[in-house]
Amino acid sequence: MTITRRNFLRQAAGGTAAAAACATLAPSPAEARDNLKVPEKAIGLLYDSTLCIGCKACMSGCKDANNLPLEDTIGEKLWDTPLELSGKTYTVIKIYQHGTMANKDKAENGFAHIKRQCLHCVDPSCVSACPVSAMQKRPEDGVVTYNKDACIGCRYCVAACPFGVPQFQYDTPKPEIAKCQLCKHRLAEGKIPACAEQCPTGATLFGTHQALSAEIARRKAMKPGEPNLFPRRTIDSGDNHEKAAAEYVDHVYGEKDAGGTQVRYLSGVPFDKLALPVGLPERSYAADSETLQTTLYGGLILPGIALAGLVAAAWRGSKTHHDDDDQGGQNHG
Ligand code: SF4
Ligand code: SF4
Ligand code: SF4
Repeated sequence: MTITRRNFLRQAAGGTAAAAACATLAPSPAEARDNLKVPEKAIGLLYDSTLCIGCKACMSGCKDANNLPLEDTIGEKLWDTPLELSGKTYTVIKIYQHGTMANKDKAENGFAHIKRQCLHCVDPSCVSACPVSAMQKRPEDGVVTYNKDACIGCRYCVAACPFGVPQFQYDTPKPEIAKCQLCKHRLAEGKIPACAEQCPTGATLFGTHQALSAEIARRKAMKPGEPNLFPRRTIDSGDNHEKAAAEYVDHVYGEKDAGGTQVRYLSGVPFDKLALPVGLPERSYAADSETLQTTLYGGLILPGIALAGLVAAAWRGSKTHHDDDDQGGQNHG
């Protein structure tokens, strides 16, 4: 049988029965491990869908910066045409479209863009699920990194991520996990992530978590329709893009979802239409599964049981994503 991500999730989710049985022995709140906190010097990205023009300069910048091969999905072997994240693609711009598509950033008869990539979770499930610490969260700035030399190819991270981000390179002789590491090699050289560097409108903006939080608050306070300045590349670049402010939905994606993320999103269209799972709890899945592991079993729980809880969480996210197709709009790469 072909092993697809969905099949793997389905099979692994079957193992959640044991975890469910354990849940009846839920620990007292005093014993529970809390969500991890945002590191003091955390960095991240703000993607503002209302500023995105779908040019995909971020995608080609990402490929260049990370030496990723072209991905041909239309049989011309000429253009890079990924439709989703893959072993060859760390970020992809997708489009929501509905009806006449006459209205940008509107759900009804409208369209909107969305950038998929690793969200650099504040309390990442992939790090919690990895049995050999190949996935790690850097304590200083919160970037979630991957060490191919430590990785044993178990794909627990693939199953555990609630956002469907890590991709296994099935079609290479030496497969690795593919995911955005916030261009850590460029950060080490004093540069900013390539996607933010290349974005012509400031839709993808790099900065400290704190500065991006202030920018999010500023944008939410803007009056829709009034001209405003939007910084390109970094908040303090001094290079601004002028545009009328859009009307945002009342949800900053990543502010609290699954314990929060360091890549956050603003949009004029509800996020369930943009291929992002909604309804995720504010408590991180990693906190839940590690609480079960440490408090009930004194650290002796089988890794598979802990993983089962993370897989169940990822399955719920994956199902939400899948169900989007039935909600009146469509997402395309
Ligand atoms: S989005 Fe997925 S891969 Fe990225 S840090 Fe969060 S759990 Fe890990
Ligand atoms: S931060 Fe770097 S690796 Fe991540 S999506 Fe942007 S360009 Fe790609
Ligand atoms: S480069 Fe900026 S405007 Fe162009 S697709 Fe990417 S995020 Fe959107």
